[in-house]
Amino acid sequence: MPIPSITRIALPSPAPGTERALRVHRYGHSGARPKAYIQAAIHADEIPGLLVAQHLLRRLETLQAEGRVLGEVVVVPVANPIGLNQQLNGRLLGRFDFEGAGNFNRSFPDLSGPALERLRGRLSPDPAVNVERVRAVLQAVLAEQDVVRETAALKRLLLELAIDADIVLDLHCDSEALLHLYASCWQRDEVVELGAELGAPVILLEEDPGGQPFDGACASPWWQLRAALADEGPIPLACFATTVELRGQADVRDDYAAEDAAALLRFLQRRGVIAGAPEPLPVPACEPSPLNGVDVMTAPAAGVLVYQKQLGEVVAVGEVVAELVDPFGEPPGTARTPIRSMASGLLFARSTERLVRPGQKFCKVAGHTPLSYRRVGQLLED
Ligand SMILES: [Zn+2]
Repeated sequence: MPIPSITRIALPSPAPGTERALRVHRYGHSGARPKAYIQAAIHADEIPGLLVAQHLLRRLETLQAEGRVLGEVVVVPVANPIGLNQQLNGRLLGRFDFEGAGNFNRSFPDLSGPALERLRGRLSPDPAVNVERVRAVLQAVLAEQDVVRETAALKRLLLELAIDADIVLDLHCDSEALLHLYASCWQRDEVVELGAELGAPVILLEEDPGGQPFDGACASPWWQLRAALADEGPIPLACFATTVELRGQADVRDDYAAEDAAALLRFLQRRGVIAGAPEPLPVPACEPSPLNGVDVMTAPAAGVLVYQKQLGEVVAVGEVVAELVDPFGEPPGTARTPIRSMASGLLFARSTERLVRPGQKFCKVAGHTPLSYRRVGQLLED
């Protein structure tokens, strides 16, 4: 039975006279497999995903009319109406919740603990049966979570829409950046395939990034339960979730968005969500590198940041990437501190801020060798 295309789901009213809602677009058939879930701009000031989602919706409308959506596709084209409404002095500030709930893409609930207790002694020798059981338990655990605040309700709602998906694509961007992807090291093959379709020059693999971002909340229960219940029955990794960084905040262009949307749909076609024979996979633009090999460069003091290296340049260990100018330094007009890369690799992301504070992170270089200062479980920025 065809499912309704658009639903509106209200969030709890944060103040009398105010109410926000999610719009959820569904294609294909409810319950059909594979299920893909795509959301844009949980970090509300990351606009490229909002435009890519529009290109996706237009194409999915056509695919639906042609009967070519074999599985189910759920798109939330505006994932964070709370953050989108956060303006201060004329600027949209959508990364952190103004009400104090922190980074919108952190602290999603970890469902694996409570799910583990309910799955003990209930696994089958058949992995397909276990996939269904795990999904049902994850949904049940999530439904029992008590939420009151608007932001907590938003997070639970997004996770409810995605938790049973086979594929989760979370659309983000960096400050100014090349297109890059974050995924788990357990899902290297999937993310390399997606990266090849997108032409991604950087793919970052992590074992445990920490922080409970959305993609991890969807995918990590599977490998945690697989490990914890290895003696009881086979659990496949039934959810591939990835964070897609669609370049920089100002890279809001129809040509990029049309290409990106087409690439995401080709990936879904390759995975059997969309009908048709896929083209040969493009040659990947990179080898994945470890997230703990990314040098996240940090300002040692306050000052004016002057880059010596540009986005897309390859830098070597010890090379000066930027200089920090102290406007009050001595002798006057000459006080500069060079900031050197600790990694050899591609400079793939930079902050657009040019006045930095002590400790401010401003630049990322993707190296292939893990760095000793990068701690597993603490690999994501605030
Ligand atoms: Zn983001």
